[in-house]
Amino acid sequence: MERTLVLLKPDAVQRDLVGEIITRLERKGLKIAGLKMMRLSDELLNEHYSHLVGRSFFPEVKSFMQLTPVVALCLEGVEAVDTVRALCGITKAREAAPGTIRGEFAMSVQANLIHCSDSLETAKAEVPRFFKAEELFEYKDILETYVYN
Ligand code: ADP
Repeated sequence: MERTLVLLKPDAVQRDLVGEIITRLERKGLKIAGLKMMRLSDELLNEHYSHLVGRSFFPEVKSFMQLTPVVALCLEGVEAVDTVRALCGITKAREAAPGTIRGEFAMSVQANLIHCSDSLETAKAEVPRFFKAEELFEYKDILETYVYN
């Protein structure tokens, strides 16, 4: 089992797509280990998007991510990191594959609805960056046998 971080960005919140996106992730068979709403501080965004610091669009991305609170999820599943990545689609949403979340619902590079961890290593840093240990839950998912058989 892997855990991965998902953020539903301010465009998902404003466009009333939070439920739709969570439904898609749930229906795939991913288990919700953590779920909350939060405002992202400058400090958290500088750390989270440290690979973008210095890029010309970074200040814009930061203020975009602070327009509204975001919805943070920690999802669990077998190979959850790559599975969620595939469900999201590529960064430039208007070119994202049909069937993916970005491919179905977004047109922009910046406003692409969702963040997800890009590797297991990244996920291991991102999950504790957004969730305290007591905000993550272990419980038996009664459908697991049917999801993974
Ligand atoms: P991803 O979110 O697909 O992993 P990156 O880590 O490269 O992509 O970028 C993080 C986020 O920064 C993107 O999801 C997008 O919101 C924003 N972003 C990336 N590249 C650009 C760009 N060229 N112009 C505006 N925003 C961008």
